[in-house]
Amino acid sequence: MAVAIGERRRKLASPSMENVQMASTNRFDSRLALFLAPLAAASLALVGCAADDITTLGDETTMESAGLGLGAQGQDVKAVYEYLRRYGYYQNEELAEHFPGWTPAVSREPADPARFDEAIEEGVRLFQAQNGLAVTGVVDAETQKVMEMPRCGHPDYYDPPSVVPRWDLDIDPYSHLGGTWSSTTLTYKFANYTSDISASTVRTALWNAIRSWTSISNLNFNEVTSGENISFGFYTGDHGCGTSNTFDGSGGVLAHAWSPGGGLGGDVHFDDAEGWSSAYLETVALHEIGHALGLGHSTVSSATMYAYYSGNDTSLNYDDHAGIWSRYGAYTSPSGCGWLNAGQGLGAEQSVWSCDGRFQLKFQSDGNFVLYKGSQALWDSNTNGDGGDRVIMQEDGNLVIYKSNGNAVWDTNTNGSSNYFANLAVQNDGNVVIYRSGGGVAWASGTCCH
Ligand SMILES: [Zn+2]
Ligand SMILES: [Zn+2]
Repeated sequence: MAVAIGERRRKLASPSMENVQMASTNRFDSRLALFLAPLAAASLALVGCAADDITTLGDETTMESAGLGLGAQGQDVKAVYEYLRRYGYYQNEELAEHFPGWTPAVSREPADPARFDEAIEEGVRLFQAQNGLAVTGVVDAETQKVMEMPRCGHPDYYDPPSVVPRWDLDIDPYSHLGGTWSSTTLTYKFANYTSDISASTVRTALWNAIRSWTSISNLNFNEVTSGENISFGFYTGDHGCGTSNTFDGSGGVLAHAWSPGGGLGGDVHFDDAEGWSSAYLETVALHEIGHALGLGHSTVSSATMYAYYSGNDTSLNYDDHAGIWSRYGAYTSPSGCGWLNAGQGLGAEQSVWSCDGRFQLKFQSDGNFVLYKGSQALWDSNTNGDGGDRVIMQEDGNLVIYKSNGNAVWDTNTNGSSNYFANLAVQNDGNVVIYRSGGGVAWASGTCCH
């Protein structure tokens, strides 16, 4: 046991390059090693267990299994407190100044930030709940791992997560920030560019990120040179967003964005010290644009709106869909016809029409999904009264009706790798068909040919 403790202490307290590389190889794509190294060096030292803490935590067995918890004292505890304070868990004048209506997630302060008391335990618990971790109130290995990851600079818990119910597979409510744009047509401008990649690459990456949000919602974006809602720019260090929002060089905080509003509202700032590539920028931009549209941090680790970066991923997941729909409504085809594409869905009373206008596939508020020709129902999912909440043409190829509690009440049973990115067509012949992206029919309503 003594050997195990020694190893653990060494790993926590003295981050050798070997440890850093192990961490990056295990958890992140290789390019992240570049950003992780300085971060890991800083934060491992911050939350590492010094020899003093082992004494205060009791016997070695407790230390090994418990991590940093109630009763611990020292600089490591203070570092945990400062980390949580930076991201919105304790009193922070700058967050209060820059985020209207912001209040700390924890309503009390520790008597001494260097002593792990109930106030710090509460902060750790809330941090774990926000970030999809087991809620133990102890800074255990899993919690520490997350704290070492690069993340977004936004505070967590800006708005109580219970404000708006989340349309999602998870029963936790989706977290929102304060604002929503009153118009669904928004403007943006490029304030400047980074020297890491060409201006055209920056523009393409950001266009792609914008398109990911507009393809599932009723939002539209137009580029302007002034009077914009959303400004994209690259900055280093203290750049006018307040001391606690000062960019910290490579790793750590990658970017931040302001929720809808005037002035800085809606603006997206990237830390220009990150060494941006096209996919890296698009991944981070996708998250920050979510903030600029009024979303907060998600508790779902696979969601774009999760606070921590764990590798490039330029697609939104269902949790993100649920968030944006609850703000701006689900996607309806601009032409009002033809397709429900992979990743798109319908809320109550929304429809997809065939392009000749003869057939209406409607998701009714009674939970039934019905194909109409005029007033005549040609097909239905027979789910009226089941409490349906929305229907989603999922990217796994399955068309699913969900209840508001996240349970599926009906599906086409077409999920599978061969159906990945399937699209649903409401055809002019009256048939409703799910087509696989690679071609071929996965499912049909059998209502051809009217
Ligand atoms: Zn964020
Ligand atoms: Zn900024």
